[in-house]
Amino acid sequence: MADGTRHAVVVGAGLAGAAVSSELARHGWHITLMDASSGPARGASGLPVGMLSPHVTRAPTPLSRLSKLGMADTLAELKRLVPEGHGWQACEVDNLNHDAGRWPAALVRPAALVNAWMQEAQACSSLTCLWDHPVTALQPYRWPDGSSGWEVQARAGQLAVKASVVVVCAAVGSLRLLSAASAATTDNAFPLRPVKGQLSFGPLSGGPLADRPQRDSGVFVPCYEDAGLDAARMRRIWSMGSTYTRGDNSTHVTTDDHQRNLDSLSQFNPAAAAALKTALAQGQVEGWAQVRCASLDRLPLVGALPDLAALGTAVRNQPARRSRLKLQDVPRLPGLFTVCALGSRGITLAHWCAKMLVRRIEHQAIDAEGDLLEAIDPARFAWRDSRRQQPSAICS
Ligand SMILES: Cc1cc2nc3c(=O)[nH]c(=O)nc-3n(C[C@H](O)[C@H](O)[C@H](O)COP(=O)(O)OP(=O)(O)OC[C@H]3O[C@@H](n4cnc5c(N)ncnc54)[C@H](O)[C@@H]3O)c2cc1C
Repeated sequence: MADGTRHAVVVGAGLAGAAVSSELARHGWHITLMDASSGPARGASGLPVGMLSPHVTRAPTPLSRLSKLGMADTLAELKRLVPEGHGWQACEVDNLNHDAGRWPAALVRPAALVNAWMQEAQACSSLTCLWDHPVTALQPYRWPDGSSGWEVQARAGQLAVKASVVVVCAAVGSLRLLSAASAATTDNAFPLRPVKGQLSFGPLSGGPLADRPQRDSGVFVPCYEDAGLDAARMRRIWSMGSTYTRGDNSTHVTTDDHQRNLDSLSQFNPAAAAALKTALAQGQVEGWAQVRCASLDRLPLVGALPDLAALGTAVRNQPARRSRLKLQDVPRLPGLFTVCALGSRGITLAHWCAKMLVRRIEHQAIDAEGDLLEAIDPARFAWRDSRRQQPSAICS
């Protein structure tokens, strides 16, 4: 591995990074997984319970098509790796407002899936985890044989790991790394935004206050049981969430956000709202708050990073042809990839996105429609800009 062949660095150990690590390990890659936190699933993927469900729309949209593929794929992964009742449970959800109906779904504690993917990668003897290692820079690197790779600098340059492939799965932390590595001069190339979310939850002592989960202006989970949780913790809970505050990077649990969840619940389940109000007054409600990473068009970024300098040169040299430049022709940075901006759909989308990415890295056939892959291409924003702006606006 001295030349970095089939050695990948994955930055971020949430759903995206763990799914990418497991897929790479299954393809025989050695992985160094680096995270700023002291363990896996400490960001948004530390969610106590979330929902795996299709995003139903009257006419298909890229997100509804992706979530249909992702739902089937994640369910297969859960069945393959996590015993039911120890991190997930199958259910149905009642959609009460838009596109009303009852849909198959599952309740999932993402950390169970993250741990299962990491154990799988470890079982292939291919995973080295570096916790408390915030990655600060990605520098292009040339191996002695002339092949290209990346030097991943962590802890403000105290540690440098070289690899032929780097996959950035650092949610909102991806923005700084991707922008610097591809020499972006504006946020337009990777328009990623933090969106704070707070879940309200508590122990369920009596019977559930609905027959199944309900979704309206939030999701009410009347009962989630998880034998995989520490006995000292709550194994049987209800939950209501989650708030959606754009541009907020904080992880503080607030009374205001509990109140917002209560207001949402009272619109579609007054009995459960009354119980939540009482529990809040008695101090029996817990909160969990974290930051989602969302892109401008609410679709993930999955694939190879654009080489913005080369794109700028191409557009400068042939200004008349810029409106005819195809997305697939945008020059890429060899060996630098991302899976990020999973928004509110990380449980549904992480593994399907990781699978598509690893097939691309392995130059394997990808069994997904081309327009869907273009819809999640990380170069799409820079490409659109290049077709309508002056080259100087794309990069320096
Ligand atoms: C309140 C709430 C409710 C939600 N409910 C649902 C739901 O019901 N269904 C659903 O599908 N999704 C839900 N989500 C969204 C889901 O949790 C996310 O989409 C998913 O966890 C994102 O996974 P990720 O791996 O991209 O990011 P994260 O889990 O945030 O992981 C990113 C990792 O990158 C690390 N990192 C960041 N910067 C650096 C750096 N410079 N160097 C090294 N490491 C770095 C972080 O420490 C972190 O561990 C919810 C989210 C919230 C907040």
